[in-house]
Amino acid sequence: MKFTVLTIFPEMIQEFCAHSIIGRGVDRGLISVDAVNIRDFTEDKHLKVDDTPYGGGDGMVMTCQPIFDAVEQVKSESEHSPKVIYMSPQGSVLTQGKLRQLAEEQELILLCGHYEGIDERVIENLVDEELSIGDYVLTGGELAAMVVIDGVSRLLPGVLHSDNSSVEESHETGLLEYPQYTKPENFRGMSVPEVLLSGHHANIEKWRQEQMIERTRTKRPDMYQRAVEDNNSIIAQVNARIAKEQSRARRRASRKDK
Ligand code: SAM
Repeated sequence: MKFTVLTIFPEMIQEFCAHSIIGRGVDRGLISVDAVNIRDFTEDKHLKVDDTPYGGGDGMVMTCQPIFDAVEQVKSESEHSPKVIYMSPQGSVLTQGKLRQLAEEQELILLCGHYEGIDERVIENLVDEELSIGDYVLTGGELAAMVVIDGVSRLLPGVLHSDNSSVEESHETGLLEYPQYTKPENFRGMSVPEVLLSGHHANIEKWRQEQMIERTRTKRPDMYQRAVEDNNSIIAQVNARIAKEQSRARRRASRKDK
């Protein structure tokens, strides 16, 4: 998958993409990230890419010309007519579901604003979608673009060590993930829950499902409520299992009584 990031700080993106799992994905040719400097496209003799806002007000606004030229050039060199996503606090808020949807694309253009943002004519004419990484305001879109690259890349086949690693994680199932422990078994008197050492896979699975439900209920009541209302969620599966176990226990008890 290819990401082209349009930015006035390409070094931020290049540095980020040189490390850890994303860096390995780039080295192995599973992801490609091209950081294009919007300033390289300006026709202004002082290399300006921003100007004062019409109507007055604080700050500067990124101008149309360099962004139009940059997007047009990137698109003309691509075979996939990539979507242009403007990283913006006014966009719809990124979710795991949205990342999965983006992971289906072959190529994306991520446009990063700065200062007061970009001229509205860019948004109206070039941008397919606005995406926010949360209801707060950052100084620029680069961190947001990195969030998208990171979140999408780890869903692509081969980027993580195991392609199943992402499947049970928080937000993938509609619930938060169960607690994780690693060696040693006992650290400063704090021990790992016994069931995880038992080797009994069915009991471990049962414990993990219960933990997912309980921690979602306490940490994210909003998510919990959605999962309760979803007939396909793990909560529904666990409730069905508990109901089955209870009915089996009742049948056993009534047989004993007879
Ligand atoms: N004046 C703009 C507004 O009120 O909507 C905010 C501009 S912000 C200071 C500068 C740039 O940071 C934006 O153009 C956008 O690219 C990026 N940005 C800021 N907050 C963001 C967020 N929550 N998600 C994604 N991008 C964001």
